[in-house]
Amino acid sequence: MRHVARKRFGQNFLCDAHAIAAIVDAIAPHTGDFMVEIGPGLGALTQPLCGILGQLTVVELDRDLATHLRKDSRLRVIESDVLRVDFKQLSSTMGTPGNLRVVGNLPYNVSTPILFHLLAFAEYVKDQHFMLQKEVVDRMVAQADSSEFSRLSVMLQWRYRMEKVLDVGPECFEPAPKVDSAVVRMVPLASAPGIDVARLSELVQVAFSQRRKLMRNTLGPWLDQRGFAGTFDLQRRAQEVGVDEYVELARQLRDRPDLKPLPASNSR
Ligand code: SAM
Repeated sequence: MRHVARKRFGQNFLCDAHAIAAIVDAIAPHTGDFMVEIGPGLGALTQPLCGILGQLTVVELDRDLATHLRKDSRLRVIESDVLRVDFKQLSSTMGTPGNLRVVGNLPYNVSTPILFHLLAFAEYVKDQHFMLQKEVVDRMVAQADSSEFSRLSVMLQWRYRMEKVLDVGPECFEPAPKVDSAVVRMVPLASAPGIDVARLSELVQVAFSQRRKLMRNTLGPWLDQRGFAGTFDLQRRAQEVGVDEYVELARQLRDRPDLKPLPASNSR
């Protein structure tokens, strides 16, 4: 298919056979898997996956690409913005809830919103394999006390076990992106803590809003305003606090209906 890559859809198509084979190996598809691919594009991953699975559900926003993909009878094509897809409903049409395998070389311009969208459906998912900007993957898997440890690390690690499985250079794409890429494996934790995700999100947003400052200057006033009377060491920077501690703090705060939500921020 002749197709001019559309920048607004984050279109960087995989074209390196070794990289494609390595990604498919990392996904390890098996006959009978209930798999969904986000952003199949020109089919670089779709074709080898479908060759093994026999059928595949794909979600593609680009109308021209979706039209082309529909010619392959093995594909169930959902022409949509993936941010509008209800993965609970999708899993119920595809097999036992909890068995969904989600994969994709994600459009980098909306990769974080896609990760957060899927977070709400983690209970229906068996695993996720995504190609993302390497810098984003490094933040996702970073541990406390490292410079990459961030809001994204906390917001995903409380719900998923994650590992970087592969680095992929810009030369493996057409057109080549300006950044390095990596593939991450995400497996929802079987015993994720029951928490108010919105509360955790607010708290982590405040904590990381000024990452170089001690939290007594950021989270401290925020906790004071909420009448927090528990124990939490604020003489630390946000990146020195582990995921479990943030989750515990969110738990202690969740039963306060008087707390007002914060406006959206760009803190990473
Ligand atoms: N999978 C192909 C590959 O590896 O060559 C294409 C990957 S390209 C980085 C991202 C793909 O996601 C494109 O096909 C693009 O049209 C599609 N896309 C962009 N935004 C999307 C969205 N919000 N929902 C669904 N698909 C989207």
